Amino acid sequence: MEKYLAITGGVGGAKLALGLSKVLEGEQLHFAVNTADDFTHLGLNICPDIDTLMYTLSGESNTELGWGRKNESWQFMDALKQLGEESWFNLGDRDLSVHIIRTQKLRAGQQLTEITQALFAQFGIKASVFPMTNDSVSTRVTTEAGTISFQHYFVKEQCVPKVQGFSFEGAETARVNPGIQQLLLDEDLHGVILCPSNPYVSIDPMLSLPGMRDLLHNCKAPVIAVSPIISGQAIKGPTAKMMQELSIPSTASAVAHHYSDFLDGFVLDSSDAGLKNAVEQLGLSAFTTQTLMVTLQDRIQLAEACLNFINLLHRS
Ligand code: GDP
Repeated sequence: MEKYLAITGGVGGAKLALGLSKVLEGEQLHFAVNTADDFTHLGLNICPDIDTLMYTLSGESNTELGWGRKNESWQFMDALKQLGEESWFNLGDRDLSVHIIRTQKLRAGQQLTEITQALFAQFGIKASVFPMTNDSVSTRVTTEAGTISFQHYFVKEQCVPKVQGFSFEGAETARVNPGIQQLLLDEDLHGVILCPSNPYVSIDPMLSLPGMRDLLHNCKAPVIAVSPIISGQAIKGPTAKMMQELSIPSTASAVAHHYSDFLDGFVLDSSDAGLKNAVEQLGLSAFTTQTLMVTLQDRIQLAEACLNFINLLHRS
């Protein structure tokens, strides 16, 4: 059986993840998910990217808000505010159930992988999921106003402070999830897809784990990435803003360059066809297609295009 590994952060990556889940059998599809956004809030262990992927794949995501769970109510938050507690991070009543289950099981000594896989199964998801590590890794954002935690930057400060760099606390001693390591060495692995996620805060934490870049570099199956930048712009979130602040041109080819040490192919949006040469000069194969995912059909088409690209790379 041909297996695929999709590496993803939250919202942007989960769009393609959903497309992949519609074109591949559950047993073929495996996800490696960023956990460096994870944090503890009000005593609860919150894993934003894992939950975004889980809600997206199970049809439970709140498409109006763009985050959280659908059919949500906010009684808990309202009560919390009345008691004068911190309310900068919104936790819906239904969403809360997941954080409570996770927190309770972590405290009882279970590993994040085991807990996450049980939750995905409860949500009826057939694909398998691996948090990038079972160890604690936390993204710290260095801004002109000081170094702050990722959620502080992203939610509390709404990505306003100018970024100067990122660090991933705990990464040096963290271990790549053994399930991910095993897959990257698996003879049946047919392709690896980096979903369109933020390169600096969603993908780099995974790449910072000891051995991860080498595993990708030495992987026998083609490794491709889908550009999270289209025509110099991010569709959502701070990717382009971060690139500008880091003095990196906010182009799709700059993202290809960022991954060029382990990538075999790069998917550009049709509107960026002019960057094909720049990508090929990095020693990568380039593939152009529509990468903007608005409808479910767009997600499915992009997933199919990625699988075709992987097959082309196998033949070349
Ligand atoms: P995350 O990094 O996966 O957690 O999710 P974000 O929502 O922060 O988005 C990350 C990146 O995905 C951003 O750079 C967006 O531009 C990109 N993105 C979001 N939607 C799309 C899309 O439909 N197509 C492509 N190619 N990129 C997208």
